Amino acid sequence: MIKKAPVIVVGNGLTAEVMCSALDYFNLKYTRLLQEIQCSTDTRTTTINVASQKMLSRLKLWSSLEDEKTAIRNILVSSNKFKTTCFEGEVDSYSINFSLNKKPMAWTVQNNKLLEICRKQNSKSLSPVEIYNGTLKYLFDNNNVTITDKSGRVWQSDLLIACDGSNSQARKAAGLLTTNMAANQKAIVTRLNLNRFHNHIAFQRFLPDGPIALMPFKTQEAALVWSLSNKNADVMYNLSDAEFEEQLINVLGVSFRDTSLCSNRTIWTLKPSVTRSMGQPGLILAGDSNHSIHPLAGMGFNLALADIAVICDCLDSAKKNGLSFSHESIIAEYRTKRRVEVEAIIAVTQGLNRLFSYNSFQSKILPSRLTNIGLGLIDLLPIKKQISYIASGGIFTSAKLFSDT
Ligand SMILES: Cc1cc2nc3c(=O)[nH]c(=O)nc-3n(C[C@H](O)[C@H](O)[C@H](O)COP(=O)(O)OP(=O)(O)OC[C@H]3O[C@@H](n4cnc5c(N)ncnc54)[C@H](O)[C@@H]3O)c2cc1C
Repeated sequence: MIKKAPVIVVGNGLTAEVMCSALDYFNLKYTRLLQEIQCSTDTRTTTINVASQKMLSRLKLWSSLEDEKTAIRNILVSSNKFKTTCFEGEVDSYSINFSLNKKPMAWTVQNNKLLEICRKQNSKSLSPVEIYNGTLKYLFDNNNVTITDKSGRVWQSDLLIACDGSNSQARKAAGLLTTNMAANQKAIVTRLNLNRFHNHIAFQRFLPDGPIALMPFKTQEAALVWSLSNKNADVMYNLSDAEFEEQLINVLGVSFRDTSLCSNRTIWTLKPSVTRSMGQPGLILAGDSNHSIHPLAGMGFNLALADIAVICDCLDSAKKNGLSFSHESIIAEYRTKRRVEVEAIIAVTQGLNRLFSYNSFQSKILPSRLTNIGLGLIDLLPIKKQISYIASGGIFTSAKLFSDT
């Protein structure tokens, strides 16, 4: 028997969870296909910018985070070790201090905590969840998608929303062209005890091998994402805790001398990619299945939230106009509304990573002193304020879930 559904959602990460909450918010019915055996823990933290926070509040997913969220009030970006007064927000000619008049620019949250809150809320949804086993087979034609699981169960829908991550099987089955942007980097992720107050400051230093970022967490901790070339990342990952801490303090500066590890290290291969079609009639890609970006700007999940907000607007207006969810105007509208932000963020993250990695572009084109001077100069320019507003999100995307009213 074929089960029919107006919309099908696949994936079990953060994008899929928030997607389902948002569809419920808009009263749009869907069927969720969930894999029987799931590996669903995610030890990373995510920075949620101001626009995304507004959206999560509207979906009633924010207040449950309670004191599990840490405000980021300043972002110190440097091409050198941080100066001894950096925890007071002081910069030198090698660094910039981004802020929005002491208002939060973003918050650090634990992915697992956010997943838990979303799952709890989604367990109350009236839309059905179907548990399947094995991998799914997708068959797309002009008007619908047919999905079959290992045991031969079949679902059919006008629209599949694929939130199944950067390795999306749905995207591959549809044969959509994906552009891979080689990073040849891995990121080491862990939590640090700074053994001093972080004063709600995030730190990012551009190193020859890739950027190192510390997001403030709780009162004295920081979430570390250290991007390195594949070879060096493996070496660093295999160091003892004491050796790793020594390397950290060495690159960050003496103000971090009391820093120690307070969780295990995990390592992530970075494979930035983008699927410029963003789907096709009857298939919409959301989150990492659509664009997987370098973590240096902490924007990946924020982009996913904007995807979700726009998808809901597109479906809501299609429903009001009596259009089928496979109508080609839906994917066309989604593409138009998402293209600018996605392209801009990819350009910035790829560009910054290349520009400041002396191992690649800079060593061949720019003397390191030039980018040092560049950072110091930006600190004095009005453009700094614009960058701070862009970092707080919602500049390129307008959608009901982002609006103030
Ligand atoms: C080291 C690192 C640090 C980051 N830090 C930040 C940050 O600070 N801020 C920020 O905004 N972003 C950050 N990001 C990006 C952010 O984590 C991702 O954009 C976000 O997790 C994407 O969520 P997703 O649900 O789209 O994809 P995923 O998290 O990959 O989830 C997809 C899920 O779908 C499942 N799946 C796969 N195939 C199938 C299938 N066939 N059927 C069903 N399910 C399937 C997968 O198992 C997976 O669990 C970071 C990324 C990395 C790598």
